[in-house]
Amino acid sequence: MPRPERVRIGALEYGVEWDDPEDGDRYGECDIVAQVIRVSGKIPGDRQREGLLHEVLHAVADRYLADEIDERVVRQLAAGLLDWMVANLDAMRWIVEEK
Ligand SMILES: [Zn+2]
Repeated sequence: MPRPERVRIGALEYGVEWDDPEDGDRYGECDIVAQVIRVSGKIPGDRQREGLLHEVLHAVADRYLADEIDERVVRQLAAGLLDWMVANLDAMRWIVEEK
C-alpha cells in the first residue's frame, strides 16, 4: 500500500510529505498553520508509520484540545496506539466500520 499523501483531521486536510523535516534532529514534524505533516522518508518503514501517527496526534491535539500536549506523552501514545492497532486489526476495523 502506498504511503498516504494526505490525512483528514476533523474538517481539516493535512498534506503528508515524506521529506526530511527542517529540523535535522527530528524525523517528523507537524506544521499546524500550513497543515502539513512531514516525515522522513529515509528512516525504516516501521519508524515512518509511528512517525506519521505521532504527527497526527499533534494535529489532533491542536484540533480537539486547542492545545499542545507534552512531547513525551505524544511519543508514548503513538508507540502504544501503533502496537495496539497492529495487534488488533479486527477490533480496529469494528471500531471504524460499525455505526
Ligand atoms: Zn512530536
